[in-house]
Amino acid sequence: MTEEEKLLLEEIEQLKKENNALVVAHYYQAGEVQEAADVVGDSYALAKACQASTKKVIVFCGVHFMAESAKILSPNKIVLMPNPNAGCPMADMVTPEMVKDLRKKHPEATVVCYINTSAAVKAECDVCVTSSNAEKIINKLEAKEILFLPDMNLGANIAAKMPNKKFILFEGYCVVHHQVTTGDVESKRIQFPNSKLLVHPECPPEVVELADYAGSTKGLLDFVIDSDAQEFIIGTEKGVVYNMQKACPDKKFHMLSNCLLCVNMKKTNLTMVRDSLRDFQYEIEVDEVTRLRAEGCLKRMMELAE
Ligand code: SF4
Repeated sequence: MTEEEKLLLEEIEQLKKENNALVVAHYYQAGEVQEAADVVGDSYALAKACQASTKKVIVFCGVHFMAESAKILSPNKIVLMPNPNAGCPMADMVTPEMVKDLRKKHPEATVVCYINTSAAVKAECDVCVTSSNAEKIINKLEAKEILFLPDMNLGANIAAKMPNKKFILFEGYCVVHHQVTTGDVESKRIQFPNSKLLVHPECPPEVVELADYAGSTKGLLDFVIDSDAQEFIIGTEKGVVYNMQKACPDKKFHMLSNCLLCVNMKKTNLTMVRDSLRDFQYEIEVDEVTRLRAEGCLKRMMELAE
């Protein structure tokens, strides 16, 4: 860490106290931004941490839909994003109008949205899921027909485990994980033969089939901590390796592909976090009608995840 970064971290700590603020960061954020955070986690864990916090101000270091989820669950808190231009291309692939049209085409289907969706899209869906609880929640749904959006890879990976349900998949994808190929797996397995291959289920199904373990970001981190293996090939965004290396300094990590870098997750830096705390920028707003409907979608997930 540079001297400049250390000074910024001190300034951030001071501003947090002065403004009764909580800083949270997603696992995919740059390492120095994670160091500024009081809580580091995946999108759902962070939204719940914001909800549980007694702080009045939340600075959310992640992408837009994540800060929106925090605002949906914490309407009386000020939720700030240090860089409002950090979006998620996958979340942007689906609009509320598309969901309404799909509902008309598939009236029998229960509409399940991945948490990587805007508040306006969540407001049109029946239940939200994360990569860690999707299987459990969809299994509990009575519907035989599931309209899953927006990630076709996550949807296909879940559908493969549930032959009793019919899945209709929206054709969205994560621009980062979707790029990984079986060719990457073959070459890294040859290069690092003693490694375990861990992938996120946003990767294509043919890649997930070849993995030793597929799971959410938190699931991958826990696997690394609990495993006796010493070397891992990581098939998810490279930011998570910062946490893996921190938790297991003696273990070795190799990226499955050089493409596993989300530029949107790297749009936030320490200067922006400091400015956000100091100037109360940029506030996330969700209109109350949309918020209440989106909250219903998130709360249904929470009930079914129990
Ligand atoms: S890694 Fe993929 S799903 Fe996550 S924010 Fe980036 S583009 Fe969106």
